Amino acid sequence: MRTLVLDSTYFPVRIVSWQKAMILLFTGRAEMVTQYKERKIMGVTENFTLPKILRLFSRHKSEKKVRFSRHNVFWRDAFTCQYCHVKHSTSQLTIDHVLPQSRGGKTSWENVVSACSPCNTRKGNKLPHEANMKLLKRPVQPKWSPQICLRLKRDDPEEWSQWFHLKAV
Ligand SMILES: [Zn+2]
Repeated sequence: MRTLVLDSTYFPVRIVSWQKAMILLFTGRAEMVTQYKERKIMGVTENFTLPKILRLFSRHKSEKKVRFSRHNVFWRDAFTCQYCHVKHSTSQLTIDHVLPQSRGGKTSWENVVSACSPCNTRKGNKLPHEANMKLLKRPVQPKWSPQICLRLKRDDPEEWSQWFHLKAV
């Protein structure tokens, strides 16, 4: 049982365990938006309904950085090979260093893109123009976004996705 936490502007910021959600609620840092029906924990003097969505009274700090990971690179690139522009599943995608590692290229948001295996093989140790290939867009560090930073699990309520504006992959 998890709780989606929105900030004061209704921007989704994190997903927490119901235990953490109860603490946010009882310490006056958040208010209930929706609750799980029929889900109650036994209190000493009363039953508490578990929160499904909470809203914080404070605003989300936007300087939070997106953690660099393979999965998050795929998210940034919308699961699309940056060379052939074809959308792929995670298992078909690889990470390509625009400036190859063998030539001093770093593993960073600015030098790493999603590529399908055939494109990655074709590019090899070359720069895109040397391999006659063109990048779909310049790779940059993405801004914090729920799509990248909040990982939904199978059991999470479907209604949460309306706060994310998720695109089907
Ligand atoms: Zn490709």
